[in-house]
Amino acid sequence: MRTLRSVGELRAALAPAREAGSTIGLVPTMGALHEGHLSLIRRAREQCDVVVVSLFVNPAQFNEGSDLERYPRSERHDAGLAAEAGADLLFAPSVEEVYPPGFATAVEVLGLTDRLEGAARGSSHFRGVTTVVTKLLCMTMPDTLYLGQKDAQQVVVIRRLVADLNLPVQIEALPTVREHDGLALSSRNALLDPAARSRALALHAALCAAAELAATGERSSAALLDAANAALAAAEVRADYVALVDPGTLEPFTRLDRPALLAVAAHVGGVRLIDNVTLEPVRGGKDDKRGTSNENRGARGEHRGRRNVNGAGTATATTIGERRDETPCSA
Ligand code: AMP
Repeated sequence: MRTLRSVGELRAALAPAREAGSTIGLVPTMGALHEGHLSLIRRAREQCDVVVVSLFVNPAQFNEGSDLERYPRSERHDAGLAAEAGADLLFAPSVEEVYPPGFATAVEVLGLTDRLEGAARGSSHFRGVTTVVTKLLCMTMPDTLYLGQKDAQQVVVIRRLVADLNLPVQIEALPTVREHDGLALSSRNALLDPAARSRALALHAALCAAAELAATGERSSAALLDAANAALAAAEVRADYVALVDPGTLEPFTRLDRPALLAVAAHVGGVRLIDNVTLEPVRGGKDDKRGTSNENRGARGEHRGRRNVNGAGTATATTIGERRDETPCSA
């Protein structure tokens, strides 16, 4: 695997592959790689001839300077992990390479970015994300872009961006990888001390409390959100938001009449974490006259990583295969 610093080097490295008609996959990351990132790189390796991993801590998407400063950085370690997972090229540009003096352009998706993360972090967050993703797509011109469902709103926003700008790229969104105890893997988990690491489980507990209630047939959004909020409160975790929304438009749901995204953001020990699950109404639920079975357990779409409990992980970490049908709240 080669590490490249400039757009010119990246384009030159990709030119022969492009000429040969080879497929190119792009996995954008901010580094501090973990099993979630590696699941994207491995999928790209399976599907594409050339795999590019970008490593860029994008200042434009941080709404707090302190968050940017203490964001974990470990390029050398990341390079080893990316290579082992199958990356061909690591594109790790400087801030000046991405935003040279005089840079004055922004790409903004309207509406969708006002909700959830946009409401909590301000409009500059997604403007930073969509601008840098557009730039990475222009620099790399991949056939497929690999994203994680862990950042569910980001997937929705980038799908909109790609459709609206007619960008010729496929999007693959892969399930959230979790620790065995349910904590969603995140680069920020490395910032949690042991006590905060333990309290951070409240996010997963909140999603599961709502999923379990949904599995009993409950469809009231208020009741499902109450269950999630109670789980956060029990761990004295302060929520930024807990929301049950349409997975495509991110509009709030009042009832769980069709699949919904349940998303949570919360502060734990000074670290901001996010998580989500998809909830589905059970057939035979409270006001469903079509069926009587309770076969649908209410949440789906994730698989677990084999990681150590503090989230540090190792170069040899592996996922336990694809388990798309696993309920994230079983175990
Ligand atoms: P980041 O480095 O946090 O910007 O994440 C880079 C990519 O990895 C994004 O598409 C994320 O959604 C994805 N990702 C982060 N954490 C996970 C996870 N636990 N499972 C799956 N994908 C993830």
